Amino acid sequence: MQARSDFLVIGGGIAGASAAWWLSRTASVTVLELESQPGYHSTGRSAALYMASYGPPQVRALTLASRPFFDVPPPGFAEHPLLTPRGALLFAHEGGEAALAAHEALVRSVSAGVRRLTPAEALAQVPVLRPKGLLGAVLEEDATDIDVDALLQGFLRGVRARGGQVVCGAGVQALRRTGGEWCVQTGAGEFRAPVVINAAGAWADAVGALAGAAPVGLVPKRRSALLFSAPEGMATGGWPMFMDAAHEFYVKPDAGLLLGSPFNADPVVPHDVQAEELDIAIAIDAIERMTTLTVRRPRHVWAGLRSFVADGECVIGQDPLVPGFVWAAGQGGYGIQTAPAAGELCAALALGHALPASLAGVDPAAVSPARPGLAEE
Ligand SMILES: Cc1cc2nc3c(=O)[nH]c(=O)nc-3n(C[C@H](O)[C@H](O)[C@H](O)COP(=O)(O)OP(=O)(O)OC[C@H]3O[C@@H](n4cnc5c(N)ncnc54)[C@H](O)[C@@H]3O)c2cc1C
Repeated sequence: MQARSDFLVIGGGIAGASAAWWLSRTASVTVLELESQPGYHSTGRSAALYMASYGPPQVRALTLASRPFFDVPPPGFAEHPLLTPRGALLFAHEGGEAALAAHEALVRSVSAGVRRLTPAEALAQVPVLRPKGLLGAVLEEDATDIDVDALLQGFLRGVRARGGQVVCGAGVQALRRTGGEWCVQTGAGEFRAPVVINAAGAWADAVGALAGAAPVGLVPKRRSALLFSAPEGMATGGWPMFMDAAHEFYVKPDAGLLLGSPFNADPVVPHDVQAEELDIAIAIDAIERMTTLTVRRPRHVWAGLRSFVADGECVIGQDPLVPGFVWAAGQGGYGIQTAPAAGELCAALALGHALPASLAGVDPAAVSPARPGLAEE
């Protein structure tokens, strides 16, 4: 195992893997992952959706900038397409007119593929919506499913193919900087590099503290999900992901089953999070109230952490005070759909390169760890 690299990337989730992939094109990189496999935490627990209208402005810019990579990945990156058409439908019952109009305007700002649906058209898309009082829906046609595992493995395979290493069981315990170089103590030994990328997900502030950096104010929030059986005899595979305008639940088809979530965002400390029974009960109640679906017994329940700073944007770039310490954190609920562009941005900033034209829509100052008010409540 090589102990010295140009870059050490702490965290083998999608943020670390994507940054490492871009860095490894011109530099030697080692990814240090605490767990025995990459993607064990948030990355392996997502709903795997690409939705350009989702998130605050810089997230939307990173999502749009990622689309060409998803649509046409580099040769050999993945055996199958990374995206599968899905669509995302937001519906409203009586009283939800303003929410429908606002959502339609938002989707139009990022996509030409938007349709306002009458109640009958909405029911043609998702026949289980409760028809009584249904106002209609907005369909974001170019929302897609993402093959998250193929994306993660594609990044990591690329890193290894270029001579980089991915070391699991390498939880970072201490960081010390001497003579312009970091010495990083891990469960798998000591590693050295002039620059460290902090892609530790919900643990990024804890890793920052080890390096002497001020916290960016990251708040991990629990989001829970369940898988349940689709109604017998009903072909659900072609349904779009659908959600109510008040964001009480969303549902999307998932390999013959349905994936549901109560949209919860419960602040917690970083840990190996599990779904609370109440989260699942809340999701089932909302699903059964607003649709004709019946959730008898969830096949599987889980939760993951979505980590946010105060303004909801990502935190990408050089720490304002600690030299050679670069953040790739705060991916919130969008870390998969933004990964190709977020990784490219992180790598360009870490290498001191000019930003490529593909990132022209992104404002690095608005995602910088040096931006004012970052950690404010
Ligand atoms: C239920 C749910 C649904 C979601 N749906 C979507 C979606 O549809 N689309 C989308 O784009 N996003 C979605 N997300 C968000 C997405 O999953 C996250 O934004 C993304 O996975 C964050 O990636 P990450 O690499 O920052 O974090 P992680 O995947 O958590 O990776 C961080 C890694 O750092 C490691 N680590 C921590 N401390 C150390 C240490 N000291 N030393 C070494 N390694 C360390 C951890 O073990 C972990 O593997 C969803 C999230 C959840 C929970």
